[in-house]
Amino acid sequence: MSTATEPVFKGWAGLDAKACQGNLDFQSFEPKKWDEDDVDVKILYCGICGSDASALSGEWGPVDGVCPQVCGHEIVGEVVKVGSSPENGLKVGQMVGIGAQCDSCRECVDCKNHEEQCCPKMVITFNSPFARGNGKGSISRGGFAKYWRGPSRFAVPIPDELDPALAAPLMCGGITVFNPLEHYGAGTKAKNIGIVGVGGLGHMAILFASAMGAKVTAISRSEAKKEDAIKLGATGYIATGDDLQAAFAAHARSFDLIICTSNPPEFPIADYIPLLRPRGVFCFVGIVPKPLEFGLFPLVMSSAHIAGSNIGNPDGIARMLKFVVEKNIKPWIQRWDMDEINKAMPSFVNGDPRYRFVLVNTDNGGKM
Ligand SMILES: [Zn+2]
Ligand SMILES: [Zn+2]
Repeated sequence: MSTATEPVFKGWAGLDAKACQGNLDFQSFEPKKWDEDDVDVKILYCGICGSDASALSGEWGPVDGVCPQVCGHEIVGEVVKVGSSPENGLKVGQMVGIGAQCDSCRECVDCKNHEEQCCPKMVITFNSPFARGNGKGSISRGGFAKYWRGPSRFAVPIPDELDPALAAPLMCGGITVFNPLEHYGAGTKAKNIGIVGVGGLGHMAILFASAMGAKVTAISRSEAKKEDAIKLGATGYIATGDDLQAAFAAHARSFDLIICTSNPPEFPIADYIPLLRPRGVFCFVGIVPKPLEFGLFPLVMSSAHIAGSNIGNPDGIARMLKFVVEKNIKPWIQRWDMDEINKAMPSFVNGDPRYRFVLVNTDNGGKM
């Protein structure tokens, strides 16, 4: 075992459904019980993702029984302790990032194929019980904290060339859109790509897809984000307004791939299917609560696909980070001192980020 600093596990905990309104409480928490493949990480940065707000506010179910919730799953920091069997070649001093998944069973066919994000026993980075080793039964604690402990397999090295603050939003939001763009061949097989929603995920999807060589069209409700979308690399922009069919008429059969980054309570997928090229793919990366309604006729006639995609595996995160360095991609972030989290979280919920908030632990060496 090798240690640089003895970690003190303290974080901003949600204690009830009002946490996002500025009621996170700074308190000590119990980290997972130590296993020899774990690392302790001194947290410098943590992005705020929609799932944090959903969990904290009870959208994912009642918060009784899961409190205190230490959320945050776009974590970047420095390894301060490694066990006797670290993965990813981790050493003390290495900068790493941790996303929405912090463990998997290691035994199923998907884990063996290193598709850990498909493991039926995946452990989410906050509020979830670990299921292996000494840590079995420990609850995962996320990045709204000073230190993080978890399996080294899910702590991915951050390249030296990359500003670690910019790496934070990539760990969940970034990989969530990078994974389907890579999988469906953005820039090669998928030359014309539509991105629905210009927000935290959507803005990174535009950056990635255009850097991959695709022609990108942003699809948003109003004209408000047009200028930003163009700056991010989109060459087309559709403001849908309320009449989608009218807005889409001129774009029928034009997209090889559409990635939907917005998750309203219900989604009018039937209006979007005619936008797809034959064999085109419409891919959801978030959850629309109401079941989809559509007729199969237009889908079958154009041999089109409706798909879903969930985050990405650690190897995919590593490939994304390499790509970000090669293409000099910079997510648009606004930094908040993590001590100000009770101001940042209500602002996040209000829809203020342009386009991702990153919390900074200045006392741990994070830079504003
Ligand atoms: Zn997330
Ligand atoms: Zn598994």
